Amino acid sequence: MLRRLPEAVVNRIAAGEVVERPAAALKELVENAIDARAGRIDCGLRAGGAAWISVDDDGAGIARDDLALALERHATSKLADDDLVDIRTLGFRGEALPSIGAVSRLTITSRAEGAAEAWRIAVDNGDVGAVEPAARARGTRVEAAGLFRAVPARLKFLKSARAEYLAAADMLKRLAMARPSVAFSLEHDGRRAWASPAASDPLARLADVLGAEFAENSVPVALEADGLSLSGHAGLPTWHRGTAQAQYLFVNGRPVRDRLLQGAVRAGYEELVPRGRFPVLALFLDVPPDRVDVNVHPAKTEIRFRDGGRVRSLIVSALRRALAEEGHRAAAPAAAAPLVGRFRPGGTGAPPLELAERASEWQAPLDPGLPPSAPPPAPEAPDAAGLPLGAVRAQLHDTYIVAQTGDGVVLVDQHAAHERLVLERMRRALADGPPPRQALLLPEVVELGEAGAERLAAKAEELGELGLVLERFGTEAVLVRETPAALGEADVKGLVRDLADDLAEHGLALTLKERLEDVAATMACHGSVRAGRRLGAQEMDALLREMEATPRSGQCNHGRPTYVELKLADIERLFGRR
Ligand code: ADP
Ligand code: MG
Repeated sequence: MLRRLPEAVVNRIAAGEVVERPAAALKELVENAIDARAGRIDCGLRAGGAAWISVDDDGAGIARDDLALALERHATSKLADDDLVDIRTLGFRGEALPSIGAVSRLTITSRAEGAAEAWRIAVDNGDVGAVEPAARARGTRVEAAGLFRAVPARLKFLKSARAEYLAAADMLKRLAMARPSVAFSLEHDGRRAWASPAASDPLARLADVLGAEFAENSVPVALEADGLSLSGHAGLPTWHRGTAQAQYLFVNGRPVRDRLLQGAVRAGYEELVPRGRFPVLALFLDVPPDRVDVNVHPAKTEIRFRDGGRVRSLIVSALRRALAEEGHRAAAPAAAAPLVGRFRPGGTGAPPLELAERASEWQAPLDPGLPPSAPPPAPEAPDAAGLPLGAVRAQLHDTYIVAQTGDGVVLVDQHAAHERLVLERMRRALADGPPPRQALLLPEVVELGEAGAERLAAKAEELGELGLVLERFGTEAVLVRETPAALGEADVKGLVRDLADDLAEHGLALTLKERLEDVAATMACHGSVRAGRRLGAQEMDALLREMEATPRSGQCNHGRPTYVELKLADIERLFGRR
């Protein structure tokens, strides 16, 4: 028997997708408050939200005549015209309130902007009541009690109250990060769990979520290109975690989880963070609404970009730029922490930040291309002592360089440092001009199918600049004549196929660049000064001076620190002189 399902059943089915757990219901309610242009949003949870969720705002409110409509499926005030192209609000599907109302006892109390009185409507697991008079100031309060109590199958899937609470708090903080101008508070089981006042500086809100250390250990990110704009703060490479949980990514103010964005973040920190570790960051991407589709899933955390390649390269270059500008600051604080922390009796383990704070004074680099003009460092070389990495005093175990700075001691791992310098030199060469090419003895024909061959041929010029010379060969293949010399005996077919896939997915020849960088990194590692080699005073001085002038020289190509610093104050503490 074919029949139309009653609305209550449809809503209950939809509720499974829209509000599968308390955190999701809280998200929908807070999004509604944000869309209503609230300046203050106060949330309450009991038993992780399963017993009770409330969201109170001072936004535009809902007019009396709209209260019943708000509970109807697909009723929304947010889609001005009927296309889904230009979405500027967080909500637009008109299904959150009816869905939550289908699986809880939901009460909405609201006083609309300019209205003389407030009104209330309640719905009990799908049964909608009458609109009644109520009292409150402008804004809306939505309460949902006994979520899923009438849907035992769903209730079974809820985790412990603690776990549900943590998920809900995380959700709220994510939303709050993107709206620093709105004040937020959260109570759990009657106790204040978190609050953040309205702030004009986005970093203040980030610090309220990620802790004050984030402000001290991050760099601002800002870049605009092609109508896309990226802002936010990126944690220093040494400030990493074991999961990507603390990577907060937003598109048009909406918290998202997106593989493309996560991949771009990984690429931006490539070689700066050890494999399997994740930097902490909050990045806000603004895309013209018609170039992104947020209507992929009811929860709206998945998105699709019209031009993913552009988005990716914007993020990668913004991160690289922001982190490179920090020079070697990155390594210092956290890298030195374990060393200093171990020695310091009763130490807090907090990274010493003096070095980091002085980083901005290091902007007078020596030209790394010139041979060192400084005299061989000797104890009386006064100039070098004022430089960030100091004057060379000795080499230990043919592996570590000891230098004296204005107010401390620096210990450099000569191999790690040199490896980074060689890689950065190769990078500069790559950036300066086309890399040397090698002609193939026999040009290679690679079958790619028509779409793939066409895509590659269209990029032939760009690829040629990277050293890969190819042309269209019939409808289904390309003919490769030359490859970048740095790749050596490359698997040409594999490389070209990967490139075609990259182009299909991102519109960019990422593979080739990344492979060239990979090769450069490997060559840098093998071509660098080994640990265990004795160095002359002049060589050591040249190494330190080049480090000072080289971006990212705080970490080797594998993300390990290249040097550590002990301040005099730390040393004095070791000897109990402070
Ligand atoms: P959507 O947000 O997709 O429009 P919802 O079911 O979440 O759908 O909400 C339905 C409608 O109820 C909204 O379009 C809005 O007009 C109104 N509404 C819901 N919550 C609020 C609120 N906190 N303040 C003002 N209006 C609200
Ligand atoms: Mg909504």
